[in-house]
Order: sequence, then C-alpha cells, then structure tokens
Amino acid sequence: MYTDYKEFLTKELTAIKDAGLFKNERVITSAQGAEIEVGGNKVLNFCMNNYLGLSNSPELIDAAKEAMDTRGYGMSSVRFICGTQDLHKELEAKIAKFFGTEDTILYAAAFDANGGVFEPLFGEEDAIISDSLNHASIIDGVRLSKPVRYRYKNADMADLEDKLKLSQAQRYRIIVTDGVFSMDGNVAPMDKIKELADKYNALIMIDESHSAGVVGKTGRGVTELFNLKGEIEIITGTLGKAFGGAIGGFTTGKKEIIDMLRQRSRPYLFSNSIPPMVANAGIRMFDMVSETTHLQDKLHSNTDYFVAKMLDAGFDIKPTKSAICAVMLYDAKLSQEFASALLKEGIYVIGFYFPVVPRGEARIRVQLSAAHEQAQLDKAIAAFTKVGKELSVIK
Ligand SMILES: *Cc1c(COP(=O)(O)O)cnc(C)c1O
Repeated sequence: MYTDYKEFLTKELTAIKDAGLFKNERVITSAQGAEIEVGGNKVLNFCMNNYLGLSNSPELIDAAKEAMDTRGYGMSSVRFICGTQDLHKELEAKIAKFFGTEDTILYAAAFDANGGVFEPLFGEEDAIISDSLNHASIIDGVRLSKPVRYRYKNADMADLEDKLKLSQAQRYRIIVTDGVFSMDGNVAPMDKIKELADKYNALIMIDESHSAGVVGKTGRGVTELFNLKGEIEIITGTLGKAFGGAIGGFTTGKKEIIDMLRQRSRPYLFSNSIPPMVANAGIRMFDMVSETTHLQDKLHSNTDYFVAKMLDAGFDIKPTKSAICAVMLYDAKLSQEFASALLKEGIYVIGFYFPVVPRGEARIRVQLSAAHEQAQLDKAIAAFTKVGKELSVIK
C-alpha cells in the first residue's frame, strides 16, 4: 500500500520544490534573541515575534524554575478534570486585568483559542463576518462552525458594511478581525469597525496575537490604540509572541462568553493544560509589563528609529502601526536574493512572496524588538543600504 502512496507524496513534494515553495527549517543553536547562532554563524535576528525581548528573560526563567520546583513539570490532564492549579486561575485573572475584560480562558495555543471559539457560541442561524486576511486559525475555527459566512476585503469598511447589511437576515452576527495583520503591519480600523458594529447590531472579536504587547502606548493592543478597552466582546491572543514566546493562548472578554467556552469549547475540554512553569512565567510576565512600560517604550522607539532611517535611505516601506516593517521589493526573485545577501552580512530576515503576500508585492519583513540595541539597528540599516545599492533597489 505505502509504495503507491509514497510515490504520490514524492510527486507532490517535488512539485512544491519546483514551484520554489518548499519550506526549510533553519536550525538555531543558541537561545532566542536579538543575536542568535544559525549554522555556526552569529547573526542579528529580525524575524522573531519576540517583540518585548522576553523569550530569554532571566526573570521569566526564574519564575519557570520556581514553578517546576513547587508545582512540578506537567499536568497530565485537561483543565476540568485535574489540570487546573492556582497558577492557571491566577494567570487567567492577570490577563483579564491587563486587557480590562471580565474573564479569561487559557488554551494550549492561540490556534486552539481561535479553533474553539465559534462552534460553541454561534449556530446556523447566525453569521460570522471575517476579514479576508485573518489568520489561518480563525479561518479553521470558522470552518468548524455552522454559521453563515461572510468575508470582507482587508480593512475595507465599505465592503464590511455591505456584508453587515446582508447579514441582517441572520439572528446574531459577529465581526472578526486580526488586530495587526502580519504581512503589512497595518492595524484593523477598530474605531470604524465599532461604529459599524453598533449601527448594524453586531458583536466584535479581535485576535490580538500580533498586537498585544506591541500596539498602544502601554501595549494593551488595538483596543488601547482606539480607546475601546472593555468594549469588545471577544479578544483572543497568544503567549507565544510578545508575551514570553513559550506556548499558550487565551480568549478573554465578556463573562458569559467565557463561561460558555468552559462548558463547550473543544480544544479546552479535550486538550492538555499548559504546564505550571508556563503559567507562572506568564503571571510574572504580566506583572513586568504592567508595572512599567519600559519594554513597550523601547520597542516603540526602536520601531520609529528603524522605519525613519530606512525611509531616509530611500526604501519603500508600507505604513505600519506595529513592530512589523515591510520593505517592499515587488519582485519574488529579488526578495530571495536580497534576504540571502543580508544573511551574508549577518542580518537574518525573511523575504515573502506570492502566495504568502499578493502577487507582485514581494517584500522583506523586518520585525523589531525591545531586545534590539541601537548599534544592532544601525548594523541592519547599513546592511540594507549596502545590499539595496548592490541590487539597484535604492540609489
Ligand atoms: C501567531 C498567531 C496565532 C497563533 O498563535 P499560537 O499561540 O502560536 O497558536 C493566531 N492568530 C494570529 C493573528 C497570530 O498572529
């Protein structure tokens, strides 16, 4: 049996390679951070979601060790059987406090939070109205549920309004959007989305995975940027990006919604609890980013500095409101050559092209972090400038 199937897979894999879409893993032999070791070489890292520089934080490592000593290594249970420690409850309360919401439910990942949010809450008489660039986990979560589906063009308010009008036929409707879209770094226009939601009687869900810790003066995400704290029914997010980068996700929002998810959300009911060390490090992390805004401030000033210098150097940068800086090259092959040349200069970035971004919109995505020091930013800008001139991208 496997002979046939193996042949089939081999052909498919060859087709992926021939199309230039084969993904290879680069193996890192150091801790995650601004400077990492890849293939025996030290490089500066500009492609991590480690926005607040906490992935290798001594304070979080201490908190994780402390929990291992007092609460053990793993839970060997889902939450509602014997997988809930005081640490899990405390972390859920910290998350709600941070976002100004009523309650929180933890998951093993944001992928699970999104995968398990729609099916328990909405039925076939309802409507989900989703931004076309929403994360894959939202798309999968919607697929697992029964409501009528509408899709509006990325951040396009006229299209959203059309879909809201159409959805008046359904019982309840919810607008679903990422807070920050990961390829351009643009934010969802939450002020306008809230206006339309009020006008057409819709609920709102925001996935703050890329925006939490990053966007807003104190890093509370797009609800802070648009002054909507406490007004959004459902927020999902990850502990795997700005918030320490280990693992874990959450849904936070209105109490009754979280209550219902604890009764019926399948990834919560049928998948393991996050380990005590992650819960305890999470608690410490929310304390750290609540007591001061030192890391958030450094991230914002790093991003402003980098974008300003890159514009000065003559690069074409997508307008950004996050820590994502898209350096537009428009040509797929050029984006790969550019990224390879930068790696030789000791700068690790990824070039993206179709189908990850629209055809003809190839780019290099730079992700800034509070872990970067100004000398490292300067080194990256100098390398971009050198390679940009060599490849005739800038004069
Ligand atoms: C990264 C990301 C996720 C997935 O987060 P995990 O916790 O790694 O599963 C979900 N949604 C968005 C918008 C993301 O950027």
